[in-house]
Amino acid sequence: MSESVKTLCPYCGVGCGLEVSPPAASGRATHRDSQGNPIWKVTGNKNHPSSKGMVCVKGATVTESIDKNRLKYPMMRDTLSESFQQVSWDEAFNKIVERIQNIRQSRGDYNSICMYGSGQFQTEDYYIAQKLIKGCLGTNNFDANSRLCMSSAVAGYTQSLGADGPPCCYEDLELTDCAFLIGTNTAECHPIVFNRLRKHHKKNRNVKMIVVDPRCTKTAEVADLHLAINPGTDIDLLNGIAHLLMRWGEIDSLFIDECTQGFSDYARIIEHYPPEIVAQKCGIEISEIEQAARYWADSKKVLSLWSMGINQSQEGTAKVRTLINLHLMTGNICKPGTGPFSLTGQPNAMGGREAGGLAHILPGYRSVKNAQHRAEVEKIWGLNPGQISEQPGRDAWSMITGLETGEVDLLWIAATNPAVSMPDLQRTKAALLKSHFTIYQDAYYPTETAAYAHLLLPAAQWGEKTGTMTNSERVVTLCPKFREPPGEAKPDWEIFAEVGCRLGFQDKFSFADAATVHVEFVQLTHQRPCDMGKISHENLASNGPMQWYDTQKAEIEIEENDSGFFSSLLKGFTKQEPLRGKRLYTDLRFHTENGRAKFAAYHSRGLAEPPSEEYPFVLTVGRLYGHWHTQTRTGRIEKIVKMHPHPFIEIHPRDAAKLNIKEGDWIEIKSRRGTAKFPAKVTKAIAPKTVFVPMHWGALWAEDAEANTLTHPEACPISLQPELKACAVQLMPITSAPQPAKDLLHQEQLALSDLIPVSTSNHK
Ligand code: SF4
Repeated sequence: MSESVKTLCPYCGVGCGLEVSPPAASGRATHRDSQGNPIWKVTGNKNHPSSKGMVCVKGATVTESIDKNRLKYPMMRDTLSESFQQVSWDEAFNKIVERIQNIRQSRGDYNSICMYGSGQFQTEDYYIAQKLIKGCLGTNNFDANSRLCMSSAVAGYTQSLGADGPPCCYEDLELTDCAFLIGTNTAECHPIVFNRLRKHHKKNRNVKMIVVDPRCTKTAEVADLHLAINPGTDIDLLNGIAHLLMRWGEIDSLFIDECTQGFSDYARIIEHYPPEIVAQKCGIEISEIEQAARYWADSKKVLSLWSMGINQSQEGTAKVRTLINLHLMTGNICKPGTGPFSLTGQPNAMGGREAGGLAHILPGYRSVKNAQHRAEVEKIWGLNPGQISEQPGRDAWSMITGLETGEVDLLWIAATNPAVSMPDLQRTKAALLKSHFTIYQDAYYPTETAAYAHLLLPAAQWGEKTGTMTNSERVVTLCPKFREPPGEAKPDWEIFAEVGCRLGFQDKFSFADAATVHVEFVQLTHQRPCDMGKISHENLASNGPMQWYDTQKAEIEIEENDSGFFSSLLKGFTKQEPLRGKRLYTDLRFHTENGRAKFAAYHSRGLAEPPSEEYPFVLTVGRLYGHWHTQTRTGRIEKIVKMHPHPFIEIHPRDAAKLNIKEGDWIEIKSRRGTAKFPAKVTKAIAPKTVFVPMHWGALWAEDAEANTLTHPEACPISLQPELKACAVQLMPITSAPQPAKDLLHQEQLALSDLIPVSTSNHK
């Protein structure tokens, strides 16, 4: 390819448009990475509606990783203690099919087969995986790493508004007069969203920014009000703000009466949250709560942003719904500049939701529990009635517990790295060691999870296959193939389809290309909340990125609703503006049975593992600006490694003094599940009695620095999202640093014993 190509950044859910040029097309000397590979040039795509040419360091350097440490050929071994041997694709496929058929013969069904996928998948990958696992095999045991990231947002939207899907768009960042950021370090984790918001905030002095976070992050540093609440007290704070708004009469009674249900139960709950009590629970001043409530009351357009600080909690769904309550109570929804806006972590977590990529959902925002939904999908997939199970499948953590109990016979992991990202890592790794057969499909080798695999399948990554991704504001972008995959790597969807064909389902997987896969997927969105009827590869290629919207409502214009009541509510719109695109629910009717949004009445439950005498600190984990998740890409990019050379622990000066710890001293941190060691970063940015550790370092990248060795798997009972954000720990100064890690990245074969200091001889 000699010309530049427009595509999407494959890192976070902001979904920035990129323009990628081949190495020789830059007109300058060809840049090469440390392994001598020519580097493709990346710039921001000025015409992309979401990012308008902006790009952060991750997007700008992404091509520097694409030729490094690639898995090029299928590799197999019988036991984990052996070395991998290169095999042909034919041998690899035969092995998978033989394993699956044996399971069917011995168990009578496919319920002990699980696939754990990824928000890095393109929508076409997600879709074919659903058809194979949920359709042809009849088990809903497909889950994705999105479970660890935003399943509470999915549950919260669905329960409160009747369907998943953020109702807002990025334009709202520039229209709001009060941005309420809770549980999100947007400046570092969603930098281009933050750039857009911050420009607006800087330019308009009347625009307020409230940040709720136990850390004084880069986001909090520029806020008008930073509420450094105690971890686990988000619901206390939200109910406390609601209490004051109610007391002051700053609620939208018309909206509540006409568009919602359940307000009276909620009103009774918030009576219990006067500022004196809330201030004490949250560890902040009464005046700070009053100020936050005053900003909500004085603003005509409040926009909330949140991500994992809210979602990763044993009460994640309750937190999301309690935040949505505030929007419903004040009518800050369905209008420009307002709404509850969940920022997705991964580039195509939204596409995964649309394609049914979690264990309880089906394509087109359908539920496996809904008989009509199952029947609709069965019809399009040409399956017998009843073929799709009505039982939700195993979520991410129950795949791990299923390995422990022997109920999971085959685990197929693709484009994700659970040996770093799962909670309670020692337990996770012990379970992975027990797996009878693990397939690991990834673009890179080594990764920590590869050490636990019996079969490695080389995947083509972004830029080496064509597909679509949907970002946080529901904009779908075509990501065209612009280079050949290395060795024998294949697109994920092609691998799943080939297995489907070899299992005897040729008629269901004979797709000519990704565009035809997309056409079939779009059929399943017809007249669903995420209707993509007008979106195709062809349209995206000629017209650029397109946003999906609710076509059932999109043709309604304001005049048609002008019954007096609606026109008074719709004052944010001009008469000429049709209710199409950009925002959902602009007709003030939600996807619930009666069209009304639902208030939820929740008391705060706090942390699943509160601090105790033995474990007196709360550990919170998070991300850094340059790194992405488990460093599979960013750890291989020199500029980013220089930016964040090693992990650390943030500790407040008061706590450091008590423990006689100085800047740079080593600390051993211990939870009920494991230990890790970090150099101290003594800073007032973290609240006393709380410590912070970045989550990016797995066993390949540093010694004894895995944040998730410490975390626990207690999860929200509704969303099943684990509380990765907080656990109780104790701290102990130590005199010496851990031995530096071996250079595992450049080993030809990653031996399990390099990563786990235990005998593996018995592990099959
Ligand atoms: Fe990529 Fe996210 Fe950075 Fe945009 S903000 S360039 S999508 S990592």
